Amino acid sequence: MRPSAWAAFLGRLRSLFGPAARTPTVRAALLSAMEETSLDAIITIDHRGLMLSFNPAAQRLFGYLPDEVIGRNVKMLMPSPFREEHDGYIGRYMSTGEKRIIGIGRVVAGQKKDGAIFPLELSVGESRVEGAPVFVGFIRDSSDIQSEQRRVQELQRELFHVSRLGEMGQLVSSLAHEVNQPLAAIVNYTQVARQMADSADDETARRIGGVLEKVAAQTTRAADIIKRLRAFIDRREGERRRESPRQLIEEALALGLVGPASRATRLVLDMAPELPDVEVDRVQVQQVIVNLIRNAVDAMEGSPRRELIVGAVRDGPDFVRVSVGDTGSGIAPEVAPRLFGAFVTTKPDGMGVGLSICKTIIDAHGGRISCEARAGGGTTFSFTLPVHREEAAA
Ligand code: ADP
Repeated sequence: MRPSAWAAFLGRLRSLFGPAARTPTVRAALLSAMEETSLDAIITIDHRGLMLSFNPAAQRLFGYLPDEVIGRNVKMLMPSPFREEHDGYIGRYMSTGEKRIIGIGRVVAGQKKDGAIFPLELSVGESRVEGAPVFVGFIRDSSDIQSEQRRVQELQRELFHVSRLGEMGQLVSSLAHEVNQPLAAIVNYTQVARQMADSADDETARRIGGVLEKVAAQTTRAADIIKRLRAFIDRREGERRRESPRQLIEEALALGLVGPASRATRLVLDMAPELPDVEVDRVQVQQVIVNLIRNAVDAMEGSPRRELIVGAVRDGPDFVRVSVGDTGSGIAPEVAPRLFGAFVTTKPDGMGVGLSICKTIIDAHGGRISCEARAGGGTTFSFTLPVHREEAAA
């Protein structure tokens, strides 16, 4: 439930129950009733991360009974490696007050009792009970699977939109190139034919000459339209904002790791501790990461060891380098030379535009994308993103 909806709900209860709702016992009873009936999963934890409560919506969402979770660490609801990092998050917040999630709300990865990894929308509030800090997590309910799917679909639609634009850009570029050549030839032939008609001495030939002039003019016009369309697509820039690379990557992971194939995949996060913010179009960059993750998962389909290694480091004063590595098949030699070109694929149902879109997006950000074989098998794709101006100057 959104904080505004929550406040409105509390307000309505107060007006229903009148002043009685303000006494502590009634308030406690009401709060517990809300927790019981909420469609959102609500989980409270203490400062060590130990779960204090786990409402029925949380039970439906994660598949655990309260007995299996109360008193245990909340990190059990997260997939590796977030699980291992969670103590550090709370510890850092308790000692520095640095907020990564409290009061912010984001999409993160969760793990159900049966092992399924899924994206969830989490917002965390902080409170104190008898002087001790308590964190309350509101998690977008998935017994109402639609709401979770809606959020994922929304993000996927955004990604898809960018992907269509990227595909369109590629198509227009290739088309423009292909079509311009015959158009130029038509203009040439028409001019030659017109000269021939002009030098003929009968009236019909001269009239044909006039018609040919119109053909040439229309052809030139068609070529101009294509030229303008191409210039428009090339100029297209997304919306650049200041973004945390870590948040970008974690959200993309939550989106990219959906699906049965990724269940058997071990995720290794390898992030440098101090990363500057970057200046990017979030949706476009997430599209790149999701593409690389999907390709990595595809490439590991038949591999005995499936490890997805995702990391980020600073690369000189002006860039952050993001990498997505896998223990998969490696790049097939027949696609290697044109890997980032359009319509290059080894997959029976592949379009072969994913990597070319990635390259278009990264180029437009002033970064570079490349790939190399991993020692011991598999591939690592990496790309650079520009550090936010203020951080680069600092
Ligand atoms: P598609 O996934 O539709 O084939 P892409 O442009 O994303 O299009 O990828 C092009 C090709 O590059 C793939 O078909 C595959 O052969 C190869 N490829 C991409 N990523 C990897 C990877 N991580 N490991 C091995 N091969 C890859």
